[in-house]
Amino acid sequence: MTSPQQILEHTFGYTEFRGPQRQVIDTLMSGRDALVLMPTGGGKSLCYQIPALARPGCGVVVSPLIALMQDQVEALQAAGVRAAFLNSSLPFDEAQNIETALLHGELDLLYLAPERLLQPRTLGLLQRVELSLFAIDEAHCVSQWGHDFRADYLQLNCLHEQFPRVPRIALTATADQRTREEIARRLDLEGAEHFVSSFDRPNIQYRIAQKNNPRRQLLQFLRDEQQDNAGIVYCLSRSKVENTADWLRQQGFNALPYHAGLPADVRADHQRRFLREDGVIVVATIAFGMGIDKPDVRFVAHLDLPKSVEAYYQETGRAGRDGEASTTLLLYGLEDVVKLGQMAAGSEGSEEHKRQERNRLNAMLGLCEITSCRRQALLRYFAEELPQPCGNCDTCLQPPQTWDGTQAAAKLLSCVYRTGQRFGAAHVIDVLRGSENEKVRKFGHDKVSTYGIGTEYTANEWRAVVRQLVVRGYLEVEGEFQNLRLTEACRPLLRGEESVELRTLPPSAKASRGESRSGAAAADIDPADEPLWQALRACRKQLAEDKGVPPYVIFHDATLRGMVAAKPQSREALLAVSGIGDSKLEKFGDAFLAVLRDFAPASTL
Ligand code: ADP
Ligand code: ZN
Repeated sequence: MTSPQQILEHTFGYTEFRGPQRQVIDTLMSGRDALVLMPTGGGKSLCYQIPALARPGCGVVVSPLIALMQDQVEALQAAGVRAAFLNSSLPFDEAQNIETALLHGELDLLYLAPERLLQPRTLGLLQRVELSLFAIDEAHCVSQWGHDFRADYLQLNCLHEQFPRVPRIALTATADQRTREEIARRLDLEGAEHFVSSFDRPNIQYRIAQKNNPRRQLLQFLRDEQQDNAGIVYCLSRSKVENTADWLRQQGFNALPYHAGLPADVRADHQRRFLREDGVIVVATIAFGMGIDKPDVRFVAHLDLPKSVEAYYQETGRAGRDGEASTTLLLYGLEDVVKLGQMAAGSEGSEEHKRQERNRLNAMLGLCEITSCRRQALLRYFAEELPQPCGNCDTCLQPPQTWDGTQAAAKLLSCVYRTGQRFGAAHVIDVLRGSENEKVRKFGHDKVSTYGIGTEYTANEWRAVVRQLVVRGYLEVEGEFQNLRLTEACRPLLRGEESVELRTLPPSAKASRGESRSGAAAADIDPADEPLWQALRACRKQLAEDKGVPPYVIFHDATLRGMVAAKPQSREALLAVSGIGDSKLEKFGDAFLAVLRDFAPASTL
């Protein structure tokens, strides 16, 4: 029999286990159960795929997402693994063939949806064959508290009763303690070994910037850093999704809209193109995401503020599952603060519920406004301590400048007071800046003592001051017209007993460019190697089209990058590149070698 290490090398083309993979695999190899909590992209799949191959019999994988099974199985088959799935999408005779293969011991891995597995017929079939393990993926689906609850998952404890000698492994990327305990309890996994990894995603670069011209900021980000990369742009409303997608297409990007208001077939088509084509940008409401298992999403951009830190972490977490450098960009402004605050206030539910929504929103705003490491703050929110600043977020890369905003704040607060606390930010700023517009004159605000006392700052700079004072609780935004009002917290500041440090507006929208330690995928390629990189991508694209699979099923970006770095000119040298195992060498090696030879450095010819 082959050892886990040999399988890692020959089948998957990797040299070393990552994180707790080795221990998890050893646990299953010795017939014991395991509960694995690892962030997205941590490498959960190998934890059960390798022992399923190394132990006698077929491994059964329970997964709630039928749409993903096919991709997972295709990827395994490309690596030479005898894998299959059974679900309601399969024609009857194909399902028959798979059952026959199972009965003849010709399968190493079988993927099943829970409802299929729990059918007495399926359970009977499994009783007749040797099984290496049960893997229960997305195990948080047993949690009634979560968003992904699936009633079928609750019955999976029957596996323990019916197959007492087959080891089980449950896996999830959901971090919190309560869910973990619930999984262990409901799946009878109290005796299992628990493996809890850090939830940090070091390959994701977090950036949060003030909105100043969001379209231009997005465009610059895409053009400078994400050319030809796949990514997701999140917006709050359906109309904004449509408009943004249209506009990106006019700018020459391959952008597709996705929201719950589109017909089901359009949604399915856009999702499919996102998975299968190279470099598609999906502009979406949060309806898009669950079940998107694409490893090479290089960026996630938010054009509106997420409702909570949890939502932000989950949505940004869709970037970089393959462990490659990825970037997240959130643009936020005063209007987001106002809009979300109003949504929370107007939402259904008790006062207590509204208070909680408000708290969640405040935590999110706090994350936006901090001047220390974002990753430390994020992880602290999930009760995890990162000892050092990360060096891979905007505040680490370009420490924000602050300025003493006490005087500006006092001017603004007085102006809100003098104009009667009945106007929104735009009007108050007009008064501060001495505007001569009609509204100012109509209300006689060109006569108040604060008229024209704020000409030293632009309207944009004043908006940043307003936003920060709202976030810090000095100002409240009220009602349909978003009037600004003072709060109790203002008093010490107005009496000159307190000072405020504010963030400086960046000189222009050009965020933190150039200094990033690890930029986007394409940016990491030496300009001299750009043609080779493009040629390798084209080769991958062609093979993917011929085989009707997504490009990453052929090779991940990391593997192409490995080829660019090593420029292998022989099959042996190619095999040394991470991500190339025996089967992929056999199937795709020659095609890529031909490209590599075309670009061979002169000295090796
Ligand atoms: P998860 O299911 O935890 O989100 P995956 O199992 O999809 O993560 O793995 C994420 C990525 O990491 C995949 O591209 C996978 O091939 C890669 N990977 C996993 N384990 C290793 C390893 N030991 N060495 C190199 N790459 C790995
Ligand atoms: Zn940091």
